[in-house]
Amino acid sequence: MKLQDKVAIVTGAASGMGKAIAELYAKEGAKVIIADYNLEGAKAVSEEIAKNGGTSMAVQADVSKLEDVENMIQTAINEYGTLDILVNNAGIMDGFEPVGEITDEKWDRIFDINLKGVMRAMRKAVNYWLDNNKQGIIINTISTGGLNGAHAGAAYVASKHALVGLTKNTGFMYAQKGIRVNGIAPGAVETNIGASITNVSQLGMERSGMTHKLTPRTGKPEEIAKVALFLASDDASFVNGTVVVADAGWTSAF
Ligand code: NAD
Repeated sequence: MKLQDKVAIVTGAASGMGKAIAELYAKEGAKVIIADYNLEGAKAVSEEIAKNGGTSMAVQADVSKLEDVENMIQTAINEYGTLDILVNNAGIMDGFEPVGEITDEKWDRIFDINLKGVMRAMRKAVNYWLDNNKQGIIINTISTGGLNGAHAGAAYVASKHALVGLTKNTGFMYAQKGIRVNGIAPGAVETNIGASITNVSQLGMERSGMTHKLTPRTGKPEEIAKVALFLASDDASFVNGTVVVADAGWTSAF
């Protein structure tokens, strides 16, 4: 029980890695807010957690809407009394256009969810912790696309690179306040988004005229959840402002 009585929010928790993280956190004793714009999916995850004896609550939150993000954090505080861990996991890939083909609308949408949505939630959480003299932990699901250029389209890769910077800056700026902020950079993981990643990477390679052996293997969402558990636990007390790559060695090839 590494998270006994901790209160955690996981965004994008209706499916994929967010679901696996929420389920593992609940198993480890945390009370979990299952936040997603897909409320039905979030409720199904919450019901599953209840069947296994865990505590959670589904909250509808579109991270591209400020009021939803603020409501999500306030709900944790109102219902469970505090907030200890914020996992900013919601994200979209939405195609693989290089810069010559991206539209302003798609660029803005991807940035609004993958980057600004995370900033909105971090700002609210950090201010809650500072105002109440509490410590807190933030974990951002980034991507190997935040470290390399070949894994997705221009907007996704740029948004995830920016998220690496935001994670490092926030970790550094609040380190002395007892707030830890880290990222996870998963390789290709077997989720809805993951199903498109290896294809997208292959296409990117072909379009750039390169060939490359792709990821040694795809990962299970549960393998990423274990990294998120480590970062949320006291075992990671000296880990801050960094990005943990979990990709079976894919990135080491670049
Ligand atoms: P997924 O599609 O299974 O899960 C994403 C979840 O986010 C869904 O439940 C979706 O409803 C939710 N979501 C999307 N937009 C949202 C919004 N505006 N507000 C709230 N919720 C929203 O995919 P996943 O692979 O589990 O994705 C989770 C994160 O992992 C994303 O940030 C993604 O970029 C990142 N990632 C995925 C892979 C991979 O291979 N699957 C690799 C690297 C990074």
